[in-house]
Amino acid sequence: MITIEDLGKCYSDGSNEIWPVKKINLCINDRTFVSVVGRSGSGKSTLLKMLGGLLVPTHGRVLVDNISVYALSEKDIARYRSEKVGFVFQDFVLEEMYTVYQNVEIVLMIAKVPERLREKIIKQALDEVGMIHKKDVKVKNLSGGEKQRVCIARAIVNNPDIILADEPCGNLDWENGQKIMSLLRMQVENGKIVILVTHNKEDSQKTDEIITLQDGKIIKHENVRSI
Ligand code: ADP
Ligand code: MG
Repeated sequence: MITIEDLGKCYSDGSNEIWPVKKINLCINDRTFVSVVGRSGSGKSTLLKMLGGLLVPTHGRVLVDNISVYALSEKDIARYRSEKVGFVFQDFVLEEMYTVYQNVEIVLMIAKVPERLREKIIKQALDEVGMIHKKDVKVKNLSGGEKQRVCIARAIVNNPDIILADEPCGNLDWENGQKIMSLLRMQVENGKIVILVTHNKEDSQKTDEIITLQDGKIIKHENVRSI
């Protein structure tokens, strides 16, 4: 479970202050698919980064299973990032010259998973996203949809509790976007929390809860599915 208390982020250049996220309170249960919507500049990416242990808030707390992430040591925050969270971004950030397999392996190397254990987990993740047949292909030779599926494999290979996806379908055609949406839904069925930033109304309607941000605040929190 994620609990966010009075979460805020301020950037200051000396004379001006910008608050991309202002005093957000929120609770997200396990096994929930949440979408975050709102205009460009409303604070969506900033919120996601703070949830993922990538950006220290100016005030407030992020509690994951009752542990306050930013009260941890830097080393433990890094561990939180690599063990508990999987990231999927719009612009793939894959190593183009490496193979599909190697791109997924990097995550396990960072998490210090011993080499003898890696192959099985990597193959399982690639199988889950339907990319096992391309494991030895260099990423530069993949289509956009395939690259995004590799990103999902990379995000799930560590079996994280939380998957943060910032506009993962933004650059994809409809069909490939739908594949990504169903892969994310599968992760929710496996008990994970998936938080998806999207501009696409059809996609947000496929999630369980929709959070609308405006000027760094939550202006609407809808339950899409009654359980
Ligand atoms: P969104 O993802 O909803 O488009 P962001 O969270 O990226 O919005 O940004 C929200 C606001 O915060 C924007 O006005 C942006 O310019 C500002 N912002 C984001 N990052 C920084 C930063 N590192 N320094 C200063 N301002 C920033
Ligand atoms: Mg953004």
